[in-house]
Amino acid sequence: MLTPASMHTIPTRLIVSLHPRAKTIYPQLSSRRARLTRLCRFHRLHVVRRSLPSMQLDIQLDPEIAVHDSDNEPLARRETTEAPHPYRTPFVRDCGRILHARAFRRLAGKTQVFTRSQTESDHSRSRLTHTLEVTQIARTMATALGLNAHLAEALALVHDIGHPPFGHAGERALDAALTPHGLRFDHNLHALRIVTVFEQRHAGFHGLNLTLAVREGIIKHSRDYSLADHPELADYLLDQLPPIEAQLIDLADEIAYLTADLEDGLEAGILQLNHARRELPCLDRAFCEAERKHPSAAERLLRNDALKTILNRLVTDLMLELSRRVAANRIRSLADVRAARTRLAAFSNSGESDRQALRTFLYRELYESPELETEHSRGVEIISTLFAYWVDDPSRLPADHVARASHEGAPRAVADYIAGMTDSYIEQAWIRFRQAKST
Ligand code: MG
Repeated sequence: MLTPASMHTIPTRLIVSLHPRAKTIYPQLSSRRARLTRLCRFHRLHVVRRSLPSMQLDIQLDPEIAVHDSDNEPLARRETTEAPHPYRTPFVRDCGRILHARAFRRLAGKTQVFTRSQTESDHSRSRLTHTLEVTQIARTMATALGLNAHLAEALALVHDIGHPPFGHAGERALDAALTPHGLRFDHNLHALRIVTVFEQRHAGFHGLNLTLAVREGIIKHSRDYSLADHPELADYLLDQLPPIEAQLIDLADEIAYLTADLEDGLEAGILQLNHARRELPCLDRAFCEAERKHPSAAERLLRNDALKTILNRLVTDLMLELSRRVAANRIRSLADVRAARTRLAAFSNSGESDRQALRTFLYRELYESPELETEHSRGVEIISTLFAYWVDDPSRLPADHVARASHEGAPRAVADYIAGMTDSYIEQAWIRFRQAKST
């Protein structure tokens, strides 16, 4: 029997574990916090209020909405059945497998926005550090919402694993190169091929043998595929919305890159703070607040505080709007989430307007700026030239890719080869190509 005195030493998760009981006794109360508070009052367990997470923001969702982190969870199913681990849950194992994948390590050498040659700075984001920032944001939100934080973490770690070198310019170049062959390049589908086919690290199964929830999340990152266009994806429940843990990743990704690219663009001198403040009301407001709090602080520190404020506001806005939509649509279980008409993870009108303003500004002033366009054009030229060179004679490829070219056709095999490269690896291939051409 719990007593008020013993409650002082009970960890939060045990208090939260009282919830099924509270739900049975107080079904009329709508929020988990209200039910737990009432139950604890009944037992005179007042300290529980201090122990519950997210107390200043009542956003904890019904536990039935989260994907369960257990081997019995249908979404924890793997293509090859494995024995349960003695102390690691299925999604913790997925995080480990992604983290140890070679394709994950290569993200360190892939462009996010700036290539090394552009800034000569070691501080601008690579695709790896961007991924880690998305992971931190996604894990924070999932924990605060009472969702499966390990699943959110695995999905965030894997979300950009299919990106080719040279950022989005590289992705567009590969897609353009494949189109005349009746094929397309899509980084989500490529990511699925990486985790199911290319990563061969385990003796007992192909690929990383990730859970269905993570493979489905890879497919449903940032876009929806129709079964008519992609019959090969039939196993991934295309007629259902993904769990909220997966829905959060797209927006965690946006929050991370919008704020980080703004910072990197200012650091690189391509963006100017005063101009950005004039164009972005959310930045100006946050900067003025920082200035009021720290009137003698250096401008660079005020700018950093302002960027952190924007990031926090977008995260908070997203969680509040998500909670509001869950309540408004009477979503009480994972099945309700999957059958809902639209994705539940979204910004409010004001959050959405800040997001749009940031996107518009960054596209116009940074991503499509002359400084970056020059580098993009060079990346496109390298990828399209090397693609044609290898497709023209696949015997120039390394042996394992030659074998793949004979099975899947040269265009797809060459695209897979290029997509796996880091920026520096393809630069070396470019140098060798030019030397071969000049002799
Ligand atoms: Mg990303």
